[in-house]
This record gives sequence, structure tokens and C-alpha cells, in this order.
Amino acid sequence: MEEREIEGLRAQLLELNKKIKLVLKRERDTTRDYNPLSESRDEADLGSATVDLALQMSSQKTLLEMLRLVEKALKKIESGNYGLCELCKREISIQRLKTIPYALYCVECQSRMENKK
Ligand SMILES: [Zn+2]
Repeated sequence: MEEREIEGLRAQLLELNKKIKLVLKRERDTTRDYNPLSESRDEADLGSATVDLALQMSSQKTLLEMLRLVEKALKKIESGNYGLCELCKREISIQRLKTIPYALYCVECQSRMENKK
């Protein structure tokens, strides 16, 4: 993978990291009748509203799990082994990483694991 591509994905991961933390913080801070859709104005700098909405609709458990994966991916970038499948050690396709920058496994390994369930 090219350095330029890794930089782009790193930016995506940092952004995601920030968003997840924000959503988690809101869940803790706000009351039950809080409507996430009514308050997105001042946070336009956080990027696409669709991603925010998807995050806001995720359960806290899902968000925490995602946050863990995002932080792991960022560590992998630092140590230089980002983009390699944790199971077969082959490169994860750039298309897959662009969709899921925190993916730990390649498509083959992922689907094999899902089939096992
Ligand atoms: Zn694999």
C-alpha cells in the first residue's frame, strides 16, 4: 500500500475515533428525550451526517467495540503493519479498507469466520 493511501486511511480512522467518542460522550451526558438529529448544526465540521447517524444508531456496545478496533488500527499504522490480515497475514484490499478502515481481516478470513457461527 502506498504511503499516501495509508495517510488517507489514518485521517479516516482519526475522524472516526473522534466521532465515536463524541457519540459515547453524548449518550452519557444527555437525557433520554434527546434527539441527535436536532443538534448536528454546530458540529458540521465533523463531516458527513450519514456516518454520524449510523454511529448514533449503534448501541454503546457496538461503539465501544468499534472504538477498540479503530485504536488498534491506528497502532498498527504506527508500527507499520497496517492493512495486513491478522489471520493469513496477506494484504487486505484497499477497497475494503476504504469502506472499513479498521478491518482486521481480509474478506476471505472474515467470511470464513462468519460461516463458522
Ligand atoms: Zn486473511
